[in-house]
Amino acid sequence: MTDRAALFQTLSAELQLGPVPQSLVAGALVSGSGDGITLEDPYARCILAEYPDCEADIANQACAAAAAAQQTWMTETNAAGRGNIMQAAATAIERRADTLARMEALVAGKPIRDCRTEVAKVVEMFRYYAGWADKLHGQVIPVPSGHLNYTLREPLGVVFQITPWNAPLFTAGWQIAPAIACGNGVVIKPSELTPVTTIALVKIAEKAGLPKGLVNVLAGLGPTAGQAAIANEHVRKVVFVGSPQTGRQVAIAAGRALKPVVLELGGKSANIVFDDANLKHAALGAQAAIFSGAGQSCVAGSRLLVHQAVHAELLDMISTGMNAITLGDPLAEATEIGPISNARQYAHVTGMLTAAQDQGGQVLTRKVLPDTGYFVPPTVLAGLDNTAPAAQTEIFGPVVVAIPFETEQDAIALANGTSFGLAGAVWTDNVGRAHRLSQAIRAGTFWINSYKAIHVSSPFGGSLQSGFGRSSGTDALAEYTSPKSVWLDSGETPKIAFGYVS
Ligand code: NAD
Repeated sequence: MTDRAALFQTLSAELQLGPVPQSLVAGALVSGSGDGITLEDPYARCILAEYPDCEADIANQACAAAAAAQQTWMTETNAAGRGNIMQAAATAIERRADTLARMEALVAGKPIRDCRTEVAKVVEMFRYYAGWADKLHGQVIPVPSGHLNYTLREPLGVVFQITPWNAPLFTAGWQIAPAIACGNGVVIKPSELTPVTTIALVKIAEKAGLPKGLVNVLAGLGPTAGQAAIANEHVRKVVFVGSPQTGRQVAIAAGRALKPVVLELGGKSANIVFDDANLKHAALGAQAAIFSGAGQSCVAGSRLLVHQAVHAELLDMISTGMNAITLGDPLAEATEIGPISNARQYAHVTGMLTAAQDQGGQVLTRKVLPDTGYFVPPTVLAGLDNTAPAAQTEIFGPVVVAIPFETEQDAIALANGTSFGLAGAVWTDNVGRAHRLSQAIRAGTFWINSYKAIHVSSPFGGSLQSGFGRSSGTDALAEYTSPKSVWLDSGETPKIAFGYVS
């Protein structure tokens, strides 16, 4: 056994997990018996663990467990009590932050400093939505008929959540916390490549008082376990975070069963720099926008649109900056950028880079890389226009396409010239222009002289190929509840009339 595989075993034991990933159903760890899945350390390139797909049977058991626990959650615990349990879960997660962060760094290949930040954000998500648990009330509506009409905000029942490998813990907390605060049961299927921290997170919450079975985790594959859960009779809504290609398959399957979906998909976000911007800030912002997380972020600023007057200067500043970034072992404190998270993604990023060069892209890149791991160096691609595949397709790596523009209208047209609508940013000292762009650019999140600022209290989501529906903030409460309209006739003679509803 390699040192890294041994570390995986140690961390698994500390998190009270078995030696290989297992699904968590009704509070018990259960092994599947399907096709083998391999967890590979993307830095040391060694096998950490192998485990069988949980397949449809376990997915169906998880849905039934969630349905039963959801009833208890709503009947045996009152709203304030549900909030208190979520607060206790947050405290328990905070206590295990270091182990969770190390496990995430090892399996997902994400720098330990980023993993610590993400665990802290999960704690914050549980606390934020714990506060909402007893504030989900409806309205009294002054209908003209004289009835007393009021609304209730009811949980949906069981929701099925599917998450990707790029920020497993963060995404799990992001979706689990609002779902259970609203009174739902959950089945969650993390990526088969990064299932462990989601399982650990739910186990920790259960130890802190979360009813067993309220949240169940599937250690398995999308086409088997994922599709079974989408079709399962207990599941009332599907929330998917992942690629547009898989999102389409999920939406089709959910549509077949007439179930609503939220899709949080990819992007090709424009980071726009005008010649009146503070270039030092813009250069730092542009690097953080695309290089942090090795570019494996849905909101990555993967297209850098730069006013032609400052194009060469800004690219110079960015190339100097990218040579100072520390690449290395995700578990090392100094590491700022780790490897690409898995072999499949590494092949995609390197393939996109080769094709871009074949199509005339000029590559500005650093040459020095660690001698192990799926590393792609921070790279700027110049000399391509906005129609090039590298400017239109999500690369999901530390690769930014730099495109010069002349006028504000050009910048807007370029920014909107993709099939996505997730995020964007502008760097300018002109406040009027900043607001004009924030309105003109199609994006669910837009930053002015900033990039990647997000918070659990603020809505997040996209349009077109970036998906639909919203996560975070009060918008997530709306996604995870359903309003019921109640009509009371208090008159001596009931006002029953045909034709009120057709
Ligand atoms: P992916 O689409 O390959 O996989 C996502 C999840 O879908 C995994 O859990 C996978 O097992 C599951 N899956 C695969 N096939 C399935 C099927 N047929 N039915 C049901 N489930 C299935 O995505 P990925 O490569 O893991 O993640 C990268 C993508 O995620 C990027 O496109 C990125 O932009 C996107 N992403 C979006 C957001 C957002 O909030 N908008 C956040 C993070 C990542």
